[in-house]
Amino acid sequence: MTITQEADFCIDLHCHTTASDGALPPKELVARAHARGVTHLAITDHDTIAGLEEASEAAREAGLTLIAGTELSCLWKSHTIHVVGLDFDIDDDCLKQALERQNTNRWSRARTITDKLSKLKIENLLEKATDRAGGDVPGRPHFARVLVEEGVVKDIAQAFKRYLGAGKAGDVKGFWPELPEVVRWITEAGGVAVLAHPRKYKLTATKLRALVADFRQAGGRSIEVSTSGQSSGDLGFLAELCRRENLLASQGSDFHFPGAPWCELGVIMKMPDGLEPVWHHFKQPAGVPAAV
Ligand code: AMP
Ligand code: ZN
Ligand code: FE
Ligand code: FE
Repeated sequence: MTITQEADFCIDLHCHTTASDGALPPKELVARAHARGVTHLAITDHDTIAGLEEASEAAREAGLTLIAGTELSCLWKSHTIHVVGLDFDIDDDCLKQALERQNTNRWSRARTITDKLSKLKIENLLEKATDRAGGDVPGRPHFARVLVEEGVVKDIAQAFKRYLGAGKAGDVKGFWPELPEVVRWITEAGGVAVLAHPRKYKLTATKLRALVADFRQAGGRSIEVSTSGQSSGDLGFLAELCRRENLLASQGSDFHFPGAPWCELGVIMKMPDGLEPVWHHFKQPAGVPAAV
């Protein structure tokens, strides 16, 4: 199938379900994506692929193409960086083991976050956060929700600003592997490693170029050029970086929950011309647009 008209498809390669810190279960997320006109979707839950089986069944029923995805946490020069993996083999044993280690790391981190926030004197904080995560390992957004419910802060933004965001007590370091390792997990499982939302790390242009250079050196092949919450200036900057470094361009909403119109499934700024889309390099034969 060759699709030549942009109106024929809508590609969203970054979003979250209840398998990590999203609000919708995989089945509901797929239904929402379909209703919003998304034709090609990658669910990229943090350090897990647990939602993919349910999503895959829902996608088959809806006639939507699901691409294997995950978003891995790692460290680069002490910065927490996210690497999206796309189109890998979900049965790859090494990747499965690596994800189990990430899960163990996430539990250790959750316990440390709980210790660091003990001064807030919230009873059973870890249990409450785990509850918010549906019994799975809680991430920072789950802790943030408890802080709001306990009246410690007025909203999620304030929870991150005061307690969980970069440099704050609950932003604990040291639990993630270094960047080259997670890139290797994805590439060895036959996938494409994509540097997620490059402007979110608040790095200077020089540092971001150094990050991209190390990412490429490790085997990373793509960066997200179009993601939510960025200006058209960011889009132009990332497009230029992508072109100059000869990387593949990816796009995704980073949708977590309904109700934020600027971060919605399928709502993606049009990719600037002259870039090579990452989906041209997917292994999946059926339905992945060959031409944009
Ligand atoms: P974690 O993987 O547990 O460290 O959580 C990372 C997630 O926290 C991101 O994917 C966002 O969904 C959320 N997050 C990070 N920073 C903020 C912030 N300043 N405000 C709201 N949510 C945030
Ligand atoms: Zn998230
Ligand atoms: Fe992320
Ligand atoms: Fe994300």
